[in-house]
Amino acid sequence: MKVYKFGGASVRDAAGVRNLEQIVRMTDGDLLVVVSAMGKTTNALERVVDALAAGQEEKALTQWVDIIDYHVAIMRALGLQPGADVRLQGEIPYDPAKPYDENYDQIVSLGEIMSTQIIAVYLLKQGLPVEWWNVPKLLRTDNTWREAKVDDNVSRSVIRSGWDRPQRPRIVVAQGFIGGTEDGRRTTLGREGSDYSAALFGNYLDAESVTIWKDVPGILNADPRIEQNTVLIPSLRYQDAVELSYSGAQVIHPKTIRPLENKRIPLFVKPFGNPSADGSCISADGVGPVNIPVYIWRKNQILITMRAKDFSFVLEESLHEIFDIIHNHRLKVSLIQSSAVTISVCVDNTRFVADAIDALRAHFNVTYNENLSLLTIRGTTPEILQRARDGKQILLSQTTRRTARLVVVETD
Ligand code: ASP
Ligand code: MG
Repeated sequence: MKVYKFGGASVRDAAGVRNLEQIVRMTDGDLLVVVSAMGKTTNALERVVDALAAGQEEKALTQWVDIIDYHVAIMRALGLQPGADVRLQGEIPYDPAKPYDENYDQIVSLGEIMSTQIIAVYLLKQGLPVEWWNVPKLLRTDNTWREAKVDDNVSRSVIRSGWDRPQRPRIVVAQGFIGGTEDGRRTTLGREGSDYSAALFGNYLDAESVTIWKDVPGILNADPRIEQNTVLIPSLRYQDAVELSYSGAQVIHPKTIRPLENKRIPLFVKPFGNPSADGSCISADGVGPVNIPVYIWRKNQILITMRAKDFSFVLEESLHEIFDIIHNHRLKVSLIQSSAVTISVCVDNTRFVADAIDALRAHFNVTYNENLSLLTIRGTTPEILQRARDGKQILLSQTTRRTARLVVVETD
């Protein structure tokens, strides 16, 4: 069997769904199709949660109706009858007595529920043998809302028995990004988590391959929105892909690789606009970006510097304290630099940072810089590095022979 994953951009309108149909039709054999929410639906649902949490019910309702209308318009354009063919969620599942993050998961997960309902029914009506899966009942997670941890053992056995049923149709359509707790609540796996879902399904079902269909030709050596002359990297090793996504490359979610590497399942990244193109292949025997410098930007970073309060900083003794706090506040470290008396960490500037800084201040003198980006250049040369530094304000740099990492002040 194969796993296909379609992101929000690839199913943002009826034409996208028809394109998905064509890609599915090109494929023989058993297929699990993992789909994200349509277009920018996840962002829109986040705004609904925000409005409700702020007590702005009317605003929330208007936004909710817009989201429903958007899906209804796509259904109509696909020749489906809203209400009859697909019944969308009627009410917003909001409980003011519950914490924000729990409400978030109940509401934001609906984007994937809606997209897959529409796509499954559409494919069925086009005569394809399709079954819709309700992933919150299959992919078991804990209740770490918004970043739920997957229970592999339960999920694997439930998903395998669902898949191995003799009467299962050839094609299954399932939600990415979401799971569910033992007591039946929906959870989400972290923004952009659908790639990770596809990898988990691939692992559980021993897929022959997993393919992520994207709006780019494959994995490029730089973000085409930033660099002008980008080059496709046709073949990568798992390790290259981990490094790329860890450094901030937006092509694949960082958690995607491990479940695939464990079973040596190749991962293809292909353009949904040109399905017969080769794209990129990530595998155990990939060759990596040979002689191609790779530029990766990780935006919205904050550089936190800690200094001992009594200036008798013994780094080794403080490291575990620092990293406990960082870990407990779910911060993602992108770079570490230390000197005799300070340690600096670059982290994603998330909603948890302020509390983490407070916690660190109990032990250290803390200063920080916001509005930074981390630029990683793999396969660099002195000339490439010089060109990259030109015109940028650089707070910190780390270079090895082949890799350069620059913490750059954002200008826009
Ligand atoms: N729809 C979710 C998001 O936009 C998950 C995904 O697209 O991977 O974050
Ligand atoms: Mg998305």
